[in-house]
Amino acid sequence: MQVNGKKVLVLGGGKSGISAVKFLLERGAAVDLYDGNAERKPQYDEIPEAGFILGKSPDLGSVSYDFAVVSPGIPLTNAVVESLQESNIPIMGELELASRFLTCDIIGITGTNGKTTTTTLVGEILKNAGFRTFVGGNIGTPLLKAVGQDYEYCVVEMSSFQLETISLLDAKVSLYLNLTPDHLDRHGSMEGYLAAKGNLAVKQSKQHFTVLNYDDPYLVTLEDQTRSHCVFFSSEEYLYEGTCVHNGEIYFSAGTDGEREFIMKRDEIHLPGPHNLENALGAITVAKLLGVDTKVIRNTLKTFEGVEHRLEDVATIKGVRYINDSKATNPDSVYKALASYGTTPIILIAGGRNKGNSFDTLGKLIAEKVKYLILIGEAAEDIAKSAEKADFHEYQIVENLAAAVALAAEHGEKGDIVLLSPANASFDQFHSYEHRGEVFKDIVLNLKRGKNYARITSEEKTT
Ligand code: ADP
Repeated sequence: MQVNGKKVLVLGGGKSGISAVKFLLERGAAVDLYDGNAERKPQYDEIPEAGFILGKSPDLGSVSYDFAVVSPGIPLTNAVVESLQESNIPIMGELELASRFLTCDIIGITGTNGKTTTTTLVGEILKNAGFRTFVGGNIGTPLLKAVGQDYEYCVVEMSSFQLETISLLDAKVSLYLNLTPDHLDRHGSMEGYLAAKGNLAVKQSKQHFTVLNYDDPYLVTLEDQTRSHCVFFSSEEYLYEGTCVHNGEIYFSAGTDGEREFIMKRDEIHLPGPHNLENALGAITVAKLLGVDTKVIRNTLKTFEGVEHRLEDVATIKGVRYINDSKATNPDSVYKALASYGTTPIILIAGGRNKGNSFDTLGKLIAEKVKYLILIGEAAEDIAKSAEKADFHEYQIVENLAAAVALAAEHGEKGDIVLLSPANASFDQFHSYEHRGEVFKDIVLNLKRGKNYARITSEEKTT
């Protein structure tokens, strides 16, 4: 792709947008950056050569753009995006732009939950196998940063928002972990959500692989929509081809001769919970399709500790284990968290900003699994109503996370788990889920040191 001398409009001045502006400027394009928020300007010091259209719409009548790069935070129903489409100006996202320049193979990993964990895991396996591997995308480093580097594989976490805008990106292997209700405020329905995610598989060519969770009723429908070779993994069914579990042992079969290869015992996987088994099965399938030695796969899974803010052990205080699962921003990830600790009594801290989800199923599960429920943030009342519907009344709504931890400590008895797994976004009280997780860890670690909460409460309010 040639961008030298082209006129490009980048939409969205966040991390992905700024990365795109820099990339295009370095390659000789003239770039305008549009952002609906006029206040963001100070963040743009690193791209002084760009034109800025802030807090007002670009004038598409007087400037003719060759193409536009849309940040994942901007929905395709945005008025500026719609005007671009009406004016027949090609639109792409940062993943698509990067893919046009990359020479290495792309491994695309998507799903509602488990993307970051599995992307990191696949990256570790490939690095341990000796491949020069980039790990990024929706996690941490934008894919554009991999352009021009000497990588053999780019393992890329891809969100539905990013996948809406791909057209030529042809992943060597795509991995679909699961699809459960999330982001329905943006995609409208599960069908819309599947269509956005499905775009990755639909764009793959015949010689490439699509790895699908056999146990997910939405994902299996993708087999009929892609030309690529579909390979399945399952934690429930004994599969002819792909990766499955049998009598507590994990097997992979390439399907050609029906021979199954023993990979490892299920219990040897370091990460807890049935959901992490699914993540591991997906990662094993990808690694086997890329020809990685089984010993490397096994050793990586035996030691891989997971990613911060996902079922992260913070501390044990007076025999009570505190776990930070701040990244659980939708109900499904909380179901998984609640299923990860056997019969251990759980004091659950949940709440935050709802993204259009119902909490009724969560309410039922809370009634089954939770000893005491502590609710914070905007969604507190709604979760409480769903818990009440399930005849669960052991809960309290509190003002903030510090009060929640203090109350959890009061209710906690030796052997219990205090689990922060909010089922909601963090933006009502925090900058991000990372911020929420950091605040939780601070409060817990201060509790361990015997410090009082009041000081932390005031800090929390000012950040
Ligand atoms: P993502 O990047 O898709 O948000 P993460 O790996 O960051 O996924 O995990 C997000 C949350 O989902 C965490 O609470 C984690 O414990 C939970 N989770 C991880 N893997 C799965 C899975 N396969 N199914 C459901 N929940 C999962």
